[in-house]
Amino acid sequence: MVKLEGNIKKMKAENKEPIQYSFVLSDQIIPINEHIGSTISLKWSRIIHCVKCGNKTNKSFFQGFCYPCFINAPESSECILKPELCQAHEGISRDMEWSKRHCLSDHYVYLSLTSGIKVGVTRHTQIPTRWIDQGAIKALKLAQTPNRYLAGAIEVILKNFVSDRTSWQKMLKNDVDQTIDLYQYRETLKNDLPNDLKTYILDKEVEQGLEYPITQYPEKIKSINFEKVGEYEGVLTGIKGQYIYLDNQYVVNMRKYSGYYFQINLL
Ligand SMILES: [Zn+2]
Repeated sequence: MVKLEGNIKKMKAENKEPIQYSFVLSDQIIPINEHIGSTISLKWSRIIHCVKCGNKTNKSFFQGFCYPCFINAPESSECILKPELCQAHEGISRDMEWSKRHCLSDHYVYLSLTSGIKVGVTRHTQIPTRWIDQGAIKALKLAQTPNRYLAGAIEVILKNFVSDRTSWQKMLKNDVDQTIDLYQYRETLKNDLPNDLKTYILDKEVEQGLEYPITQYPEKIKSINFEKVGEYEGVLTGIKGQYIYLDNQYVVNMRKYSGYYFQINLL
């Protein structure tokens, strides 16, 4: 039996066939694919430590921040969710040093297939991590820009034609139209961009497929809320995105519990 405890961080994922996941608890990294099919128990100690400053917090904001960090940390700036609002290219940011590394570097606009086709933006170093975290089964780069703002400007236009959201239930049930052709969408969508943004289009990128360690998808999904139940024990039946499946019907969004102090036993 493997006994672990610590503050949860989002799962680490290595892009193999299938993707190799690890739990990250405080400074421990534990591979978990080999535990699929075995019993796992998870217990939250009712303590949350802010993922930024480490202080105890009664409530988690924006997946693991205490309230002061949520308000002040660059990692929870408005532009993280809305890249088109990024002002780092004009020298405005909560932390310009951070923004130089994170906002003023190459970004990609991509199309991915999660619950349906979606458009998204990510920093160049986050591929394929971003796609794995959202549970995409395939993805294709569409444009490359020198900063976050320009990628956001492209995304805002493309959002008129394809969603920027994922239905997590459909993604987790794998209720997805697999015939959707990302190349075809890329061809059509690039014509919807104004000329000044067309210069950032990538034409020759190749679609990337992603394979998750789950053999049988459940027909119905229920999310376990540790704020309510505190603990749960069941059989680990698969992993997709940042979710683990338990007893082929329940899911836990591990990322949502970032900063939560958990005891996990892998039997
Ligand atoms: Zn904090």
